Amino acid sequence: MSNRKAVGIDLGTTFSAVAHIDSYGKPQIIPNSESERITPSVVLFDGTNAIVGTIAKNNSVAEPEKIVDFIKREVGKSKEQFHREFGGTKYSAEELSALILKKLKCDAQKYLKTPVTDAVITVPAYFNDAERTATITAGRLAGLNVLQIINEPTAAALAYGLDKLDEDQTVFVFDLGGGTFDVTVMRIQGHRLEMVATNGDHRLGGKDWDDTLVNHVAEEFDRAHGENPLLDLQSYQDLQSRALAAKIQLSSRERTTIVHSHNGKSIKVELTREEFEKMTRHLVEKCKAICEIVMDEAKMSWSEVNKILLVGGMTRMPMVRNMIAELSSVPLAEDVNPDEAVAMGAAIQAVLSLLHEEQETGERMLPPETRQQFSSREGGLIQVRNITSHTLGVVLWDETHLEEYVFPMIKKMTPMPAVVKNSFGTATANMQRAIVRVVEGESSLPQECTPLGICDVELPPFLPKGSPVELTYEYNNNQVLEVQVEACGNRASVSIERKTGLSESELDRAALALGQLSVV
Ligand code: AMP
Repeated sequence: MSNRKAVGIDLGTTFSAVAHIDSYGKPQIIPNSESERITPSVVLFDGTNAIVGTIAKNNSVAEPEKIVDFIKREVGKSKEQFHREFGGTKYSAEELSALILKKLKCDAQKYLKTPVTDAVITVPAYFNDAERTATITAGRLAGLNVLQIINEPTAAALAYGLDKLDEDQTVFVFDLGGGTFDVTVMRIQGHRLEMVATNGDHRLGGKDWDDTLVNHVAEEFDRAHGENPLLDLQSYQDLQSRALAAKIQLSSRERTTIVHSHNGKSIKVELTREEFEKMTRHLVEKCKAICEIVMDEAKMSWSEVNKILLVGGMTRMPMVRNMIAELSSVPLAEDVNPDEAVAMGAAIQAVLSLLHEEQETGERMLPPETRQQFSSREGGLIQVRNITSHTLGVVLWDETHLEEYVFPMIKKMTPMPAVVKNSFGTATANMQRAIVRVVEGESSLPQECTPLGICDVELPPFLPKGSPVELTYEYNNNQVLEVQVEACGNRASVSIERKTGLSESELDRAALALGQLSVV
């Protein structure tokens, strides 16, 4: 039996958590070396040390130029599009995420007293191809074998449903975190967990509520002293943490006071929950609209939903809870910890992935009891089925209208894994190359979709116009795309060149460079 230890990681915008399955088959959160169950997703660069977690977060006001937070909002961008420079080295979003993952891995090893080899990492269901690929890269840079990338709502539903797999039910997962918002309808039926519909906004989260408060206090300060306190980085960070604390206070109290000092001047702003809710009404309305869209996409009415699962720290806010209650009248699932459910679900998926691997290779990695615990009465493993959250298309030339358009290859909401083949004719005679432009998005206009990459295949000489080019899109369980082109007997398998993805040699170099930093 080879020794593999797999964990589940919720790599969050503001906090991250890691969990494993204990010897009784139960998911458990692994505390970090500061004995906390969640770790702030904040990195502080201090010489050759990268400090991750609460210490870094606590330094955000004193040394704002040395810290980096909200990295998840930048994941999927290339180094040119986003980087932070410390000690003369430029770090991409995936490298910064890797530092957080390294800290989680090291702390888990210390706690479990065994090397952690494998992980399932969660991402918002609405993450696109580039964001998922970057998350896998971050895991590999942290020295983890990434078994799978799974959607946060699927993980939450797994954690909730593990002991209810015999009760057929439909759950609505409402996940509002520090930086992202995701809603997903899941069906639990006969040891199967199926995603029915999903939607979201990955730039909507707790930070937007914080920013509203920050701007409100800054305006009051400007009115009183004729000065904008946000122009000073230290003052901005200070006000951000005060705003965040005030927001959290308003979840349990009716009123709060924010005191802010800058340049020897100070201001005291009194705020009631009602005023705060009025200021941020547009944000909760955005959430509501997305809930309605996803119910439309699922072709369901609220009366068909049995439970609402609230995930993400922001769902503790009364205004969010009230909106959901008024909109749906569906009872809340009470036994879900919004900060921990996602990591626990990822840990369950990690064991399921290893069990699937055992089945395929015949190599034993886990004790036989574990297989039993994660199987139905008939002996089959728990099945999880996800659907795609975006349409993947190819840009084609429309002869009639003389313009480019997007042909959808894999439509949004297709069950995964998915393989779709289509045949197209070459646009002109004697074409020397078939250049396939792969895009993601719901529009038929190429300029309204996100370009994912290009497949460039050489064609045999002297082909007549309309010669067949066969295109295959394969979407794996990680919701990462592989594209193949077969042109007139010239079989060419090409992985799309992503704007962000690193090549194997770049990956090795980046891992080596990160290895020179000690993560604490
Ligand atoms: P997550 O990404 O799930 O860790 O969500 C963290 C977000 O939830 C941050 O924006 C926190 O400020 C927010 N949050 C955590 N607890 C509360 C609370 N009691 N009331 C309001 N917001 C909260």
